[in-house]
Amino acid sequence: METKYVYLFNEGDANMRNLLGGKGANLAEMSKLGMPVPNGFTITTEACNKYYDDGEVISDEIQAQIMEYLEKLEEETGKKFGDQENPLLVSVRSGARASMPGMMDTILNLGINDVVANTIAEKSGNERFAYDSYRRFIQMFADVVKGLSKKRFEEIIDEVKAERGIKDDLELTADDMKTLVEKFKEFYRSELGEDFPTDPKTQMMEAIEAVFRSWNNERAIYYRRMNDIPSNWGTAVNVQMMVFGNMGEDCGTGVAFTRNPATGENKLYGEFLMNAQGEDVVAGVRTPKKIDQLKEVSPTAYDQFVEICSKLENHYKNMQDMEFTIENGKLFMLQTRNGKRTAQAALKIACDMVDEGLISTDEALMMVEPQQLDSLLHPTFAKEALEAAEVITSALPASPGAGCGQIVFTAEEAKEEADKGKKVILVRLETSPEDIEGMAVSQGILTVRGGMTSHAAVVARGMGACCVSGAGDIEMNEEEGSFKVNGKTFKRGDWISIDGSTGNVYGEAIETVPAEISGDFERFMEWADKRRRLKVRTNADTPKDAKQAVDFGAEGIGLVRTEHMFFEGDKIKAIREMIVAKNDDQMQAALDKLEPMQQKDFEGIYEAMEGRPVTIRYLDPPLHEFVPTNPEDIKELANEMNISEAELNQVISNLHEVNPMMGHRGSRLDVSNPGIAKMQTAAVIKAALNVNKKHPEWNIEPEIMLPLIGDLAELKYVKKLVTETADAILKEAGSDMKYHVGTMIEVPRAALLADEIAEEAEFFSFGTNDLTQLTFGFSRDDAGKFLPQYYAAKIYENDPFARLDQNGVGKLIEMAANLGRKTRPDMKLGVCGEHGGDPASIEFVDKVGLNYVSCSPFRVPIARLAAAQATIKNEKA
Ligand code: ADP
Ligand code: MG
Ligand code: MG
Repeated sequence: METKYVYLFNEGDANMRNLLGGKGANLAEMSKLGMPVPNGFTITTEACNKYYDDGEVISDEIQAQIMEYLEKLEEETGKKFGDQENPLLVSVRSGARASMPGMMDTILNLGINDVVANTIAEKSGNERFAYDSYRRFIQMFADVVKGLSKKRFEEIIDEVKAERGIKDDLELTADDMKTLVEKFKEFYRSELGEDFPTDPKTQMMEAIEAVFRSWNNERAIYYRRMNDIPSNWGTAVNVQMMVFGNMGEDCGTGVAFTRNPATGENKLYGEFLMNAQGEDVVAGVRTPKKIDQLKEVSPTAYDQFVEICSKLENHYKNMQDMEFTIENGKLFMLQTRNGKRTAQAALKIACDMVDEGLISTDEALMMVEPQQLDSLLHPTFAKEALEAAEVITSALPASPGAGCGQIVFTAEEAKEEADKGKKVILVRLETSPEDIEGMAVSQGILTVRGGMTSHAAVVARGMGACCVSGAGDIEMNEEEGSFKVNGKTFKRGDWISIDGSTGNVYGEAIETVPAEISGDFERFMEWADKRRRLKVRTNADTPKDAKQAVDFGAEGIGLVRTEHMFFEGDKIKAIREMIVAKNDDQMQAALDKLEPMQQKDFEGIYEAMEGRPVTIRYLDPPLHEFVPTNPEDIKELANEMNISEAELNQVISNLHEVNPMMGHRGSRLDVSNPGIAKMQTAAVIKAALNVNKKHPEWNIEPEIMLPLIGDLAELKYVKKLVTETADAILKEAGSDMKYHVGTMIEVPRAALLADEIAEEAEFFSFGTNDLTQLTFGFSRDDAGKFLPQYYAAKIYENDPFARLDQNGVGKLIEMAANLGRKTRPDMKLGVCGEHGGDPASIEFVDKVGLNYVSCSPFRVPIARLAAAQATIKNEKA
């Protein structure tokens, strides 16, 4: 049987979204509900996919079906393409399964040529309208189908206006419009070497093809990647009879939301323009009027619209975003969809709709996008102040938030100034692990180089600090303590503001307001907590982060990275002494200095977590990260340590590795320097004993996690260092405190041998960053260089470091979880990589039955909601 590639609007409904696209399915649904929708038909997403499969041609079969449906449309409307009496004009509109506002193309007024324009002029008695429609069509067709720049057309309009000495488009007369049509056609011919097509059927087929093509334009591809939309979904194309909002003063066009998309207030919100078409309202050429005012201008249409709005909202059980046109006082609905909204509005709408009895709490939970909550957790710019400020440059929105402070150029300066109580923005070419403390005290980080997964971006997101990265327009002059951007110079101490949600940088201080979980947000999160199966822990290295995470609802810590504590103050000195130690005594002396400092760190974290579980991971990075790189710092360190610069340089170059990420790190450090594991164990056990003494009710049982294990014998070796040290301390203290030793699963070999490893490991935590890195065999620090080419070639669609690769890495996780539980059925399993805060990854983690995810403090609320959604979805599946 022949595949059906085309559907009339009245053959479809909202359930056919995958096939008809969102716009097509909703137009069909509105028709079915008896609402006034101009007739039309939809060419399916399957047709789009076939267009690509066939090598970017519309097959004869599909062309034939389109022609057949065009005839049906002509019958339905009583109008005909190219007709001299009653010509049919249509719009050709894109519409994918997921709404991708503004990403793909639409053409209006298709079907016009000289004869048709003349007919329309006579029939409507409105010559200006006829030729206005005509010139708009040429503009859109030339842009969308032929890729001619819109700018030239705008220039031609400006030239005509200048010649005539007028300012407003509305002042253009019928003759001016005719002149524009001629000039546009001339430009079209001179650019393309062919005449503007006069046959409406040719116009239509070319337009349909252009919409198919627009599925793969750069904007659309980028949008899909950002929003997890698979490229094989394809777009549908809607061909719809035109209705005219630009035919006179009793005509108009508008957009409206059933509730306020910024605040969530339950009140119709929208704008319209009389005597206008299509995008005029959003394009901002003329200032639109508030929807309420439509009541006076076109009362019948207004009343009908209000009634339709409430019907649609009840029907879809969601806030709707609608387009309408009024033709000679009569209302037509052109689109409806679930409206995009701010996080604040999303929560209010969800709570209100539950109270109104419109939806269940489960439905409310599914209505809010987890990622969106992020914007509610960081201080934000006061809206009006932001609007008034001037953007000096724009770069990657690497970590959301509002940062406002005085410029500093080094991490040390940041610390000094912050100690004095100043607010600073750290501006760097790029950041390195040594900058971490400076980053932590800054209001925001701005880097010239680096992408969304650069060190600065990852660390900033981890800390919940605002960060804008890759601001290539900035010319740094670190020596002078200034930078230049777009002709302006900014000096150390000058105020700037950065917006981590948009990537905008402002040359002035902008007022901010802090975040809190209260009201609708709090109520909503309680529903999520009741519903989710997965526990949510946090990755935190300091008491401050730990407290923040608890405030955001964390139930424990899944990952304490002990190395982050080593960068502070005296600790970095002691660790450097350890690294350059020439004999066991010097080594031990350094470790003896470190132990009490580590113990204090752990006590702080245990105190902050008030008895919640805390998993502490032992030293992980290669030691070279702890030694200085620039000659001055090396000199200073050599002096401090009483060794020659040459000697120190020797130590540093010995630490050099070709592949540090696959190098001497993780538990490998403990195998070659057993003292490190022993020192860390002593610090953990003593800290827990101390805090338990003060708070016996907390009953802390330390969870010790060994990184980068790849073999059972390796685990046994390091675990023995831990247990011998711990047991000796416990014995001496006469304590029966329990403690647990587990591993990270981040080397593929450990996943393969998880059943063996589980003999000694009491728990697993999947370190998905390293596991991804080692499974793909590419470094996350370098992959940004070539991944874009992989996206372009459609080899990978997403950054596997941001979105868990379920096929490959996911398979390893599932396998290791099953193997581990075979050996140890009650084993606790978690994820502690970057993916722990990513909703799609959380859904997967829920499906394979792990116990918890662990993510940075600022992602905890996101993970709580994502986990609830995962439970609801996986229950249904
Ligand atoms: P987008 O997806 O970018 O919103 P649309 O396909 O919805 O693009 O159309 C762009 C504009 O043209 C919208 O304002 C829409 O209301 C208007 N429009 C589309 N089809 C018609 C039509 N048949 N008659 C009148 N206006 C239309
Ligand atoms: Mg639209
Ligand atoms: Mg790791």
